[in-house]
Amino acid sequence: MAGTFGNPEVVQEEVDILLIGGGMAACGAAYEIMPWIQAAKEEAGVDIKVKLVDKAAMDRSGAVAQGLSAINTYIGSEQDPADYARMVSNDLMGITRDDLAYDLGRNVDDSVHLFEEWGLPIWKTLDNGERVDGATWPKEGGKLLKDGGKPVRSGKWQIMINGESYKWIVAEAAKKALGSDNIQERVFIVKLVNDANDKNRVAGAVGFSVREDKVYVYKFKACLLVAGGCVNIFRPRSVGEGQGRAWYPVWNAGSTYTMAAEAGAELTMMENRFVPARFKDGYGPVGAWFLLFKAQATNAYGEVYMQKNKELLNDYPPYGQAAVPASCLRNHLMLKEMKEGRGPIYMDTVTALAKLRETLSPREVKHLEAEAWEDFLDMCVGQCGIWVGENVEPEKKNSELMPTEPYLLGSHSGCCGIWASGPDDVGAPTTEEHPEKDKIPAHLPQGWNWGYRGMTTVKGLFTAGDGVGASGHKFSSGSHTEGRLAAQSMVKFVIDNKDWKPELDTSVDSLVEEIYRPVRTFMEHKDYTTAIDVNPHYITPRMLQFRLQKIMDEYVAGVATYYNTNGIMLGIAEEKLGMLKEDALKMRAKDLHELLRAWENYHRILTAEAHMKHIQFREESRYPGFYYRTDHNYVDEENWHCFVNSVYDKNTKTWTVFKRAHKDLVDKSK
Ligand code: FAD
Repeated sequence: MAGTFGNPEVVQEEVDILLIGGGMAACGAAYEIMPWIQAAKEEAGVDIKVKLVDKAAMDRSGAVAQGLSAINTYIGSEQDPADYARMVSNDLMGITRDDLAYDLGRNVDDSVHLFEEWGLPIWKTLDNGERVDGATWPKEGGKLLKDGGKPVRSGKWQIMINGESYKWIVAEAAKKALGSDNIQERVFIVKLVNDANDKNRVAGAVGFSVREDKVYVYKFKACLLVAGGCVNIFRPRSVGEGQGRAWYPVWNAGSTYTMAAEAGAELTMMENRFVPARFKDGYGPVGAWFLLFKAQATNAYGEVYMQKNKELLNDYPPYGQAAVPASCLRNHLMLKEMKEGRGPIYMDTVTALAKLRETLSPREVKHLEAEAWEDFLDMCVGQCGIWVGENVEPEKKNSELMPTEPYLLGSHSGCCGIWASGPDDVGAPTTEEHPEKDKIPAHLPQGWNWGYRGMTTVKGLFTAGDGVGASGHKFSSGSHTEGRLAAQSMVKFVIDNKDWKPELDTSVDSLVEEIYRPVRTFMEHKDYTTAIDVNPHYITPRMLQFRLQKIMDEYVAGVATYYNTNGIMLGIAEEKLGMLKEDALKMRAKDLHELLRAWENYHRILTAEAHMKHIQFREESRYPGFYYRTDHNYVDEENWHCFVNSVYDKNTKTWTVFKRAHKDLVDKSK
């Protein structure tokens, strides 16, 4: 029976594997899983049903929705996966899982080769020396990367693409592999449901359609939670007329971290954040300018702060001394200029293009200028709007750079996320070696591998991409790869658990009741006042979001305090977030769009709380330039060269935060 706004239709479905999300990791899993399912049927006699659920439409969902102009992780023949693990570690100030990074490094190129086969134009130099980019892609005779030709690198790990339609191409392959009957778009998953007989296991998930009055209840043996990272927990720099513009895509609202935490999964490095320095107001990418056009960033007076302030790097050995200092430290050097009044910061596009003119012909320079525009058109069209609107010709006028508000993610230059099982063949510790191991809750695994690559500490719950913590720099290609790796392990998990039957620990009625609570709150109280947005019985999701952003901005090291916080400020944030969590139960939803906003906010609050709790626990400033604890304004290698992990108890609504030992598996002295 079709539902109504107050009384939704309930659709129940049982599958074996549910993929939550439709981004790079989910597309990787969707593409990979079918042959393994076929093999499971033929070799083990197990029938496996799989379904993918995305809150949006896969063609343009997730962080790659607008397109990209570079694939940031391609190892190629020039490098080794161990070099990659070393780079990831240094950029993230030494605390990453080498097992995960190494495993990704040795597998990632295969996904890139697939992208090219599926039609993604990759710039390259062909074997005859001719440079070919997407615009002049030969109809015939173009060789695939794996067959010949070298990709054009914009940096050591990055390769250039004509990638406006990147996500379309990757989604098309995923959809073709999975079949449209196994894909449900525009369903927002609100929560995972634990198993009635094993509270450390997932048995289902529940969500609602953002287009129809329907609630979806899924039961499964395994699920892949890949709903991206988290944006808009901090007050964004773009307010008022510019609101909605952020560097990180506004549709990933911390669902991955919150749903995993509520299901009991161990989180890791939630104190980590990413504060990219980007073109001001449009948040346009800087990679091509720095790496391809060799531009430099300066203070207001033309001084190159990376040289001027380079002695500050000596405070952070060895991370400051690497050939490319850690991303946060590059911000650290920039912030000194801003804090001391020598802002704004500029990308010196004028000098960079003038220098190129010294060695290149006018035609080649014109081509490069076109590429600079295309860089924005491919992945951040809003920045072109700003350049056009503000009469910016990059060869004549420099553009401002600005460190953004903080974002939480695990696949770009950040490493917060979920503690996940690594591969079993790279020598990861099998028993916990940390002296404080007795503080780790007893039900959690001790080593870094517990059977199934990508499985979290909750049975049946897998993750990839932004979900896997302590191992950043996967980017689009690496997230796709991790989705593929997880797909293989999930099939194995289902075969190993073929006789197990999921049983939800909460009744379907209560789940539906909970999800539609904001709608009922609205229906019950809407006539109490004459102005629909002003009502003592409810709070609009928009207003609640402002409250969250204010708390995080002012107390948890947002832009308002130049990314500074301390123990006292965190204590205040803790109290205020507690109250906000209570008030979140009073959010209203006057339509399905607001219902989506309400639940996104709920996911944001818990993610924000995890972030705050981890920063509070880690008594040092591990990521100077991303945040500072001014009461512990140093990196303390002796006491804090370790993972900070946590588990959330959804019944008591409390966090347990603890240390886990860090171990280098790759020689970092090289
Ligand atoms: P996403 O691809 O973001 O997918 C998340 C998915 O989850 C989406 O489909 C979303 O709709 C869905 N979802 C969210 N919440 C829910 C929910 N509650 N229920 C159901 N579905 C949900 N990589 C590069 O290689 N090169 C680059 O130049 C580059 N530039 C980047 C620029 C920006 C601004 C960003 C943010 C990332 C960039 N990356 C780049 C990194 C790359 O985009 C990510 O690493 C990758 O997309 C992560 O994959 P994912 O599947 O974890 O998340």
